[in-house]
Amino acid sequence: MLTVLAVPAFEDNYLWLVHDGQHAAVVDPGDAQPILDALATNGLSLVAILLTHHHADHIGGVSRLLQHARVPVFGPAHENIPAITRPLVEGDCAVVPELGLSLSVLDVPGHTRGHIAYVGAEQGWLFCGDTLFAGGCGRLFEGTPAQMTVSLAKLAALPDDTQVYCAHEYTLSNLRFALAVEPGNTELQARMVREQAKRARNEPTVPTSIGLEKSTNPFLRYREPTIIARLIEENRLTISEPIPTFAALREWKNVYR
Ligand code: ZN
Ligand code: FE
Repeated sequence: MLTVLAVPAFEDNYLWLVHDGQHAAVVDPGDAQPILDALATNGLSLVAILLTHHHADHIGGVSRLLQHARVPVFGPAHENIPAITRPLVEGDCAVVPELGLSLSVLDVPGHTRGHIAYVGAEQGWLFCGDTLFAGGCGRLFEGTPAQMTVSLAKLAALPDDTQVYCAHEYTLSNLRFALAVEPGNTELQARMVREQAKRARNEPTVPTSIGLEKSTNPFLRYREPTIIARLIEENRLTISEPIPTFAALREWKNVYR
């Protein structure tokens, strides 16, 4: 029986620890100390490191963790991360025998050029780094809007009950923007109330689920006529084509306060 533990780090990152009570694999250890603490507290030994993309808040703890345990480092083949010992592309699997865990890999470029995501089909898990967030999506630092729409479509095609383990607690700010985009979405309104209550209790709002994202996340809903109309009304869009709509939505979010 595997458990996924959220290990908070920095301002708003979540590092994910997958464990069986004895062994643990960590996803995106941006910092080593919180992971070393969590391993010690729970009596776990590290057996693998999995990386989604090259940003420092996702890989910054790797070298120190490797000083404590010489473990395989899975990560994107198309990004320059020297610590990676098991480079992965879409269709590959990250296998962690100690945990009986096999995660399949999707290429999800957009936030960065070589970003990958890990899918645990058996468990219904998705580790998607900074691609899909609860109520939002990652900024397009290296990829194009067209690439990001393809990447997000791959994630949206997963079963609705898939648990989405994204790497940041950005949910309330994302949902504020989502409500500006879709003020009439009643599921979104209800979600905002629920997520605000979780934050008020200092609880994470993640994992989220693919089904919830499909009904409330504007970056999976940019084909909705009401969203297109809203962007035109805001003078952020002139043609109602999917890619320009997605691009206009992402640009609006970049400046939304
Ligand atoms: Zn990032
Ligand atoms: Fe990040």
